[in-house]
Amino acid sequence: MQKMDKLEINNLTLGELQGILQQDQIPRFRAAQIFRWIHKNGVNNPWEMTNIPQTLKNYINERFYFTVLELVTKQVSRDGTVKYLFRLNDGCTIESVLIPEQTRVTICVSSQVGCAMGCTFCATGSAGFERDLTAGEISRQIELISAESDGITNVVFMGMGEPLHNYRSVLRAVEIMNCSEGMNLGLRRFTISTCGIVPRIYQLADENDQIGLAVSLHAADDAKRKSIMPIAGRYSLAELMAVCRYYCDQTKRRITFEYALIQGFNNGLSDAKALVELLAGLNCHVNLIPINPVQVQYKRPRQHVTREFMNYLVQHQIPASIRRERGTDIDAACGQLKQATREDLNEDS
Ligand code: SAH
Ligand code: SF4
Repeated sequence: MQKMDKLEINNLTLGELQGILQQDQIPRFRAAQIFRWIHKNGVNNPWEMTNIPQTLKNYINERFYFTVLELVTKQVSRDGTVKYLFRLNDGCTIESVLIPEQTRVTICVSSQVGCAMGCTFCATGSAGFERDLTAGEISRQIELISAESDGITNVVFMGMGEPLHNYRSVLRAVEIMNCSEGMNLGLRRFTISTCGIVPRIYQLADENDQIGLAVSLHAADDAKRKSIMPIAGRYSLAELMAVCRYYCDQTKRRITFEYALIQGFNNGLSDAKALVELLAGLNCHVNLIPINPVQVQYKRPRQHVTREFMNYLVQHQIPASIRRERGTDIDAACGQLKQATREDLNEDS
């Protein structure tokens, strides 16, 4: 075999692995065996793949490397939410969250180390962008967590990063997790949450009609939205709504809009009215999230204000609910995920 750079084996779809093995004159059926070991059984080296010959194990070892995701800490919240901190091969760290509920078990995954979108209310955004995750690093989060918690029903891209800013790797990870030789998770179990990268939403609508979409709105007025979400300076609400309508038409799926309520900023009657006008006639659901105060200047409204806001939407034919808080005591709630500090890693400064 010619000397070449090693490939990250966890990052390959079954089709790609088959293609590479074929090129290297290895029987095609071996690809499914290897893929199963990695993505179904969570094995992360060739030596434990008991049904393949030694020569093939040596070949795998020379041709590929395995994704590194080392568990650093695991914190369990009072409400059962679990936050995992993983270290990657270059020392970067990411967080993932397991949310067990009565009727479903959700994993919230990261798609990037940090985030380049700079939303002012978000801990991930405030820390800046480090790098994209590979599809191997994305799918490995779910494989490791589901190895210790059966019955995963949903995967949401609501951890660190903007998934549509790492579009190819996110969709590749979904393909890997969807593969029947791997985790075999149905496409409808996935939801991608985005701050609103309009061209990528068009692309998503054109390329799939199964994956769920959540759009982080947070304000129904361009100027307000711009003041907390830089992406709103790039794409207006009119453009964002146009692509949301396109997505609904193409996929026949309901869109979720996330709206973080910030006291005195976006929780008034005029805000609720603007939101109703913006979303009228769209097949959608609004998820109201009392803001998690990662920045001191943002406070959540009082409970009755949040409820009144929701009632106004519902009375005006916009389905809405208030997201129940999960894992706040371990900083695992929306917008609280970030890279590890030395303290998290138990290192001396
Ligand atoms: N980048 C994507 C997905 C990750 S953030 C996005 O922005 O949609 C997941 C959700 O948490 C988004 O709706 C985001 O707006 C929200 N969020 C971020 N910071 C928050 C905070 N401090 N309080 C409540 N929700 C927050
Ligand atoms: Fe990035 Fe989403 Fe946080 Fe905005 S809210 S900075 S897009 S992770």
